[in-house]
Amino acid sequence: MTKFSPLYLFSVLLFFSCNNNSKESYDLVISNASIIDVENDKVISGQTIFISEDEIVEVGDNRDKDSYTSKEEIDAQGKFVMPGLWDNHVHFRGGDTLIRENKDLLPLFLAYGITTVRDAGGDITPSVLKWKDQIDKGELDGPTIFSSGPKLDGDQPAWPGSIKVSDSSDIEAALDSVEKLEVDYVKMYDGNLSAENYYGIIEAAEKRGLKTTGHMPMSADFMKAISLGLDGAEHMYYPLKACSPAADSLTKLNLGYGMIEPLIDTYDPELADEVFAKMSEENVFVTPTLYIGKTLAEILEVDHQQDSLLNYIGSGIEKTYQGRIEGAKRAKASGSKMREKMEEISTKMIGPMQNAGVKILAGSDCGAFNSYVYPGESLHGELSALAGAGLTNAQTLRTSIVNGPEFLDLEDKYGSVKEGKVADLLLLEKNPLENLQNLQEITAVVKNGKVINREDLRNMLQSVKRQNGLENE
Ligand SMILES: [Zn+2]
Repeated sequence: MTKFSPLYLFSVLLFFSCNNNSKESYDLVISNASIIDVENDKVISGQTIFISEDEIVEVGDNRDKDSYTSKEEIDAQGKFVMPGLWDNHVHFRGGDTLIRENKDLLPLFLAYGITTVRDAGGDITPSVLKWKDQIDKGELDGPTIFSSGPKLDGDQPAWPGSIKVSDSSDIEAALDSVEKLEVDYVKMYDGNLSAENYYGIIEAAEKRGLKTTGHMPMSADFMKAISLGLDGAEHMYYPLKACSPAADSLTKLNLGYGMIEPLIDTYDPELADEVFAKMSEENVFVTPTLYIGKTLAEILEVDHQQDSLLNYIGSGIEKTYQGRIEGAKRAKASGSKMREKMEEISTKMIGPMQNAGVKILAGSDCGAFNSYVYPGESLHGELSALAGAGLTNAQTLRTSIVNGPEFLDLEDKYGSVKEGKVADLLLLEKNPLENLQNLQEITAVVKNGKVINREDLRNMLQSVKRQNGLENE
């Protein structure tokens, strides 16, 4: 056959014509899915999700299977697909000897459908940033991590690893050092941070375009912090302070957290509505952490030794859980009564906040020292607490998967099952809009486009389980 024989030309033509009809090819296709649209509180069925690498490249009505090719396909007939959950307040901490045990918490998040965590500061930042990078590259299984790095506190910080701001002249250097770590936001803490330096950090961070959130010194004024550019409040104490007309006179008494109980007693719902309207207008987020409040309020009454999840917590981290028990014993009845009252008022504040348009963030506060608030499970506890406080199931889901990305200005990448979003997905047996418990009926988790099925998740968990009381190395 010569080079230009008719047969050769025919084959060339055939090749090109096939190529013209060439099918789109994808890494992963999820067909027949019922997509949970949390923004509109509805289910869109008969959908196919096309994924290449770690990105959703197309979503639409089911189409002819001959029209595309894929390396992997999941038939999601009868299943529900939604974005992976975000836990917007976790901690990796406890010092260098607990680095390994902290790393072993990562699979727990995935097993409970959590594909992103917002780390709210600790003392093992270099390790956390290393895991973040490895997870992004697909070298390590775990949730995507956004981190504040070290906390900013006064010269006697409450937590090890914090950056000390004892004088206003320390502020720029403190922000330089967190910026150098390329953290995602700034977390402030009130070991002994002064109100002036708290305000100073917010103003300076605002100029640099850095987000600020955290604790507030009880001597400071929440509304002033908002006017300076505060972006968030972790826990409810600080919005609560702004909702009491007695706040200014109580501040003069220098009671610290001793002012919580009189603040609760003088809570004014009308003033609260003004505060929440301002928070909404200024786009200030709040992470209520209701579930840990309840867990700690009941810590002396509940025997946690039989908790099945304790088997997935390293013995070093378990030891740190003892601190809160000792603290509760010291505070005795008055301490748990204060926690119960705090839980009650926080729950009462959720509905009016939501109605005012305040962005609520679901965060568990899990991590070493935060006793029996298990990574993974505790976010589900937080979601049911938020629903119990009056949010609809769709509103509750938004506190995790929509508001989480919005706090970090990442709504283009996360928050829905749509073209252009990161392929972090949950495949569920049942509809979570009907019942939040259905969030725990997980068929598979897709993390950065990689499918982790139920058996993989089980194996991942098994690998970090304590065996017969012996530590895994
Ligand atoms: Zn925390």
